[in-house]
Amino acid sequence: TEPSLIRNFSIIAHIDHGKSTLADRMLGLTGVVTEREMRAQYLDRMDIERERGITIKSQAVRMPWQVGEKAYALNMIDTPGHVDFTYEVSRSLAACEGAVLLVDASQGIEAQTLANLYLALEDDLTIIPVLNKIDLPGAMPEKHAEELASLIGCQPEDCLKVSGKTGEGVAALLDEIVRQVPPPTGDPAAPTRAMIFDSVYDTYRGVVTYVRVVDGSLTARQRLKMMSSATTHELLELGVISPEPTPTSGLGAGEVGYLITGVKDVRQSRVGDTVTSADKPAAEALAGYRDPMPMVYSGLYPIEGTDFPVLRDALDKLRLNDASLTYEPETSAALGSGFRCGFLGLLHLEIIRERLEREFDLALISTAPNVEYHVVTEDGTELDVHNPSEFPDGKLKEVLEPVVAATILTPSDFVGPVMELCQDRRGTMKNMQYLSADRVELHYTLPLAEIVYDFFDQLKSRTRGYASLDYHLDGLAPADLVKVDILLNGEQVDAFSAIVHKDAAYNYGTTMAQKLRKLIPRQQFEVPIQAAIGTRVIARENIRALRKDMLAKCYGGDITRKRKLLEKQKAGKKRMKAIGRVEVPQEAFIAALSSE
Ligand code: GDP
Ligand code: MG
Repeated sequence: TEPSLIRNFSIIAHIDHGKSTLADRMLGLTGVVTEREMRAQYLDRMDIERERGITIKSQAVRMPWQVGEKAYALNMIDTPGHVDFTYEVSRSLAACEGAVLLVDASQGIEAQTLANLYLALEDDLTIIPVLNKIDLPGAMPEKHAEELASLIGCQPEDCLKVSGKTGEGVAALLDEIVRQVPPPTGDPAAPTRAMIFDSVYDTYRGVVTYVRVVDGSLTARQRLKMMSSATTHELLELGVISPEPTPTSGLGAGEVGYLITGVKDVRQSRVGDTVTSADKPAAEALAGYRDPMPMVYSGLYPIEGTDFPVLRDALDKLRLNDASLTYEPETSAALGSGFRCGFLGLLHLEIIRERLEREFDLALISTAPNVEYHVVTEDGTELDVHNPSEFPDGKLKEVLEPVVAATILTPSDFVGPVMELCQDRRGTMKNMQYLSADRVELHYTLPLAEIVYDFFDQLKSRTRGYASLDYHLDGLAPADLVKVDILLNGEQVDAFSAIVHKDAAYNYGTTMAQKLRKLIPRQQFEVPIQAAIGTRVIARENIRALRKDMLAKCYGGDITRKRKLLEKQKAGKKRMKAIGRVEVPQEAFIAALSSE
């Protein structure tokens, strides 16, 4: 297709504002998916996506659309909607010239609306403001049109009003996309440069790579080169998605499509990388490539020790589809053999864990998530710590932790509770501004470690669900952090060591010690549980020794109670872990790690 007849656009929206529904409606209106084939949220293909109602992997669909005499090709590029995947969002947007900024007319602007808008503006995209769900009785399109207009600097009348549900206004929106979004520019005669904005592993076909051709063109059977790694690959298939993959003989400048090279691992075809011709390579890659960087680490252990090889194979398989998942084997005295895994964020962790359990039938236990710390010791040695057990003992010169720049949007009634929460979590306010009389935008710097846990839940509960949050990594900052160890009868229990702020150390130590006292059965001797920073004990609990006459008491008494006790012992014995002389049922570790 000639570039003047191409329009590349994304829909950006806060979660639940109706992006998937609108996308489905567009597929129907343009005839790409017929009524019969239509199933709710056609584009959200993965099961977990559908169940959680989130979009993890972006897709690109080509839709024909006629305006006047001219037949256009609209490429709709879907972006993941969650903060864990900001880099993926930014690459999807970089493949477009325009973005539909979709806002629920009953809710108004939310934090992700803003975050995605800022990303789109960084790429100089044309923004089309759209209010959705105008069919809802509670919709206030006029009010929110004003908010939206003042945010992006247009007139309230310029905001389109649609309903993805009824289809009202959607055809007019497609017309506006053709009218307002500029056609792609790029040099068709220059050496080929195509940007990878998504890369998906397919069991049957290997890696399917989604690209936007910027300069030159791609032709079937060409030899390709990935510029970040300088590896070359045969091009086996080239095509467009409409809505099923359809092979084509070429993709010209400005076009969007997929390619298959036979590579089996998405790491060889990375988001943000530039694809060029192996025979006539471009001199310079397109800007913006970045190695994926895990932000949150957690140990994953199979509950059944014999499942370790299954877990390893499962991680190997998932990694084919996920360049941002990292893992290496680790051993824990308490939990056995497992893997220390790196994730983009907590949602990413949950998704991976859920997929491991569901698709590979594994029962897993995960240690409390932690971020990566940068430690400088007294003698000047610097090290990166991904696991509390690697945190050096003794005096340290400096400990740096990752911090994020967070944007929180809240109704003005809840500003107090939000500020209180941010203060509790060691936040520093950068600024605060009113979006309208009753909506406030707050900017904070917060330690990533304070966000990854339950910050979002707390924010929601303190604002009755009205506040929204978005954040991105914003460097490292020094902090007063210490490692708290938990000792059982003098032996350290590695799975419970944590790196915490010194003001939170006592609380962590006592909570953990009390929890374990309740969970660990009595032994023949008294067992002290201690929480310690280095050699300094900060909390202590005791598990009293088993009374000799305890079993005797059962005899002659309640027979069912005795049987139960014996059965329990039998079941428990199978899964005992020895920490020094203390026998601990694995259940106790699992319970201590999972309840919070
Ligand atoms: P996404 O998270 O932005 O992809 O949002 P979805 O498309 O999954 O929609 C979220 C919820 O809003 C779903 O329950 C949809 O049925 C509903 N929804 C989406 N668009 C409309 C609309 O135009 N009108 C109404 N009434 N509901 C809508
Ligand atoms: Mg969706």
